[in-house]
Amino acid sequence: ENKIKTKNPRKNKDKKKHKKDVELAKKAEQLLEFRKELPVYQHKDEVIDYVTNNQVTVVIGETGSGKSTQIPQFLMPLNSKSIAVTQPRRVAAASLAARVSEEYGCQLGQEVGYQVRFSNITHPQKTKLKYLTDGMLLRELMIDSKLSKYSTIILDEAHERTVLTDLIMGFLKQLIVTKTRRDLKIIVMSATLNAELFSKFFGNAPILFIEGKMFPVSPFYLSDSSEDIVDTMVRSVIQINLAEQEGDILCFLPGQEEIDSCVTVLTQVAPLLPKQAPLLVPMALYAALSPAKQAKIFEKLPARRRKVILATNIAETSITVSGVKYVIDSGLRKVKVWKHQLGLSTLLTTPISQASARQRAGRAGRESAGKVYRLYSEKVFSDSLPKQQESEIMRNDVVMPILTLKKLGIDDLLNWSWLEHPGQDAILSALNTLYSLGALNDSGKITPLGYKMAVLPLQPQLSVVLLTAFEFGVLSAVIDIVSCLSVDNLVLNVGAANGELRDEVNYKRRQYCPLGIRHGDLIGLKEYFNYYQELSAAGNTGELKSWCKDLHLSYKGFKNVLKVRQQLKQYMITTIKQDDSIKREERDEQLKNLEAQLGIVNLNNTNDSDIEDELKKPLDVPAVLKSFLKGYITNTAVGMPDRSYRTFNTGQLISIHPSSNLFGKSNLDAIMYIEYVYTAKGYGRSCSAIELGWIQEVAPHILGASKINVHD
Ligand code: ADP
Repeated sequence: ENKIKTKNPRKNKDKKKHKKDVELAKKAEQLLEFRKELPVYQHKDEVIDYVTNNQVTVVIGETGSGKSTQIPQFLMPLNSKSIAVTQPRRVAAASLAARVSEEYGCQLGQEVGYQVRFSNITHPQKTKLKYLTDGMLLRELMIDSKLSKYSTIILDEAHERTVLTDLIMGFLKQLIVTKTRRDLKIIVMSATLNAELFSKFFGNAPILFIEGKMFPVSPFYLSDSSEDIVDTMVRSVIQINLAEQEGDILCFLPGQEEIDSCVTVLTQVAPLLPKQAPLLVPMALYAALSPAKQAKIFEKLPARRRKVILATNIAETSITVSGVKYVIDSGLRKVKVWKHQLGLSTLLTTPISQASARQRAGRAGRESAGKVYRLYSEKVFSDSLPKQQESEIMRNDVVMPILTLKKLGIDDLLNWSWLEHPGQDAILSALNTLYSLGALNDSGKITPLGYKMAVLPLQPQLSVVLLTAFEFGVLSAVIDIVSCLSVDNLVLNVGAANGELRDEVNYKRRQYCPLGIRHGDLIGLKEYFNYYQELSAAGNTGELKSWCKDLHLSYKGFKNVLKVRQQLKQYMITTIKQDDSIKREERDEQLKNLEAQLGIVNLNNTNDSDIEDELKKPLDVPAVLKSFLKGYITNTAVGMPDRSYRTFNTGQLISIHPSSNLFGKSNLDAIMYIEYVYTAKGYGRSCSAIELGWIQEVAPHILGASKINVHD
């Protein structure tokens, strides 16, 4: 009897696996027909030829021609080791891997997989093709500077010129120039024609042009630029739906906020529109989207329905959705910019370049002739839009890049193999920041803290916060807060337009953050999170959901907080384990300490009694806030005798944001804020009340740099 019992399940399992394999193979065969139609597929032999005969090849082809999905697959049989394909965006890495695993006929995470921050869907032996973010590859470079795991590195979307892709190019060039990896193949892929730069950089590497077929796209302009972009976008969608024949609409908006507003409005009005036009089905497309929602974008809709995809810049070159015949272009995008005089980076909505506008328009002409509606005038297009977008390295701070280079032992930063040199000022400013964070010492050498920061895949400020919290013994609490901060829209914003509701929500929130009212938003987040965990440990989902709803906190957001929290714990463990700047005994000691702080025994399976124990511990508020202060020392402002606040390092006026627990308090010694926003005036968001003495305690080395007299 026993025999039968043990035999049967295995047989069943084998049978199931076999059935699954057959299904995968069938799907792959179906997709092959589609693949063969792609312009890149028709140049298969040529691609293989170029790559076989050259160490570096630059490939240029229209977006959607099949570069990212096909070229790696052509090369798979030729490679003894793995192929890495870098992507500037997380979503693109995940989406491409999902698609290519289907085309290849395997389960995602087997032969084809991906790795992005917070998830690694690969198999240690089986994975031969890995899509990963440029940040992840750079991290691997740090651990293994020869990239010995790989026989081919493909840098995709090189035209985007992200800092990280630029840096990787610098490193790859050194691997080639120093002849460290004669066997390594490098492919730089770009969607735009200005690829000369890449070719020149790699000693005049050959350029392979792949011609795609493109249908004409006729442009339409507004006579005046629009004031309210959401309103204009919605109107245009409705008009096109009424006037134009079938075909989906792709709308480019600057960011998630505008996209969400448009989706909300369109969802409300769609059922009310005249029935002779197709039913509008709005869908959002941006980087922070869940994989499930992302997959929906590619689904075919039933007849008499029209997809309206509301997207950020991500749909410009990295994600291609078929069926689009109409493009509506707001002419805007969000970019991260470095504000020199404030010493902070912020997201800023800016006009796109002419090259981007053409690229966006091109998305309408992939399958047949299309139309582009530009929500600005023709004059704006020709006279005010810049011809090309500035590269990120020229626009942004180079703090992380410089720390990375320092860690890799590169001291002469001014003469390093920069694809595009960021300039002396930017380099010096980054060195300054790293110095004030304690990552570099007086002589510019990387410190033990700097080593650990370079390994943590987080903003340098956040890394410092976590590492300091570890030192102060409050890592667990600080990880909770950082996780809450990292999730967008956890504490939902009730706009000023909703005055009464806002007061009510604020009143309710205050009941749950007694400490937060005194100490500010970071401590408040920890209190919300504690309450969430208490309810969640009690297993009462209903109560939990209604509590979230009452306080306008995102229930789903908390789920993400939990995920990020696990990940951060894991990162800390990996970082300490990998720290080869300290002796083994010291490392073991630190690991023990880490385990004690995080309760590692139950890292993957925190049970209820653990949570209770944790919640019973009193919160060491000063230690928590000082940990944050160490990372955000430049984000501090001092209370002035006239009851205003002035930033510590530049002496500018700054106010507490109305969304803060501390809003209206004008008599605090000093404040620390996590984020700076500028609307009508400068505001600090996520504020905490701090003591002046802490600044001196935490960062004595920067006191002299202040523009205001702290002892006034
Ligand atoms: P390129 O890299 O040249 O921009 P891709 O290889 O990304 O081109 O895309 C080739 C084709 O594969 C596109 O037409 C696109 O529609 C299709 N495709 C890519 N990713 C997916 C996906 N996740 N689901 C369905 N189709 C996809």
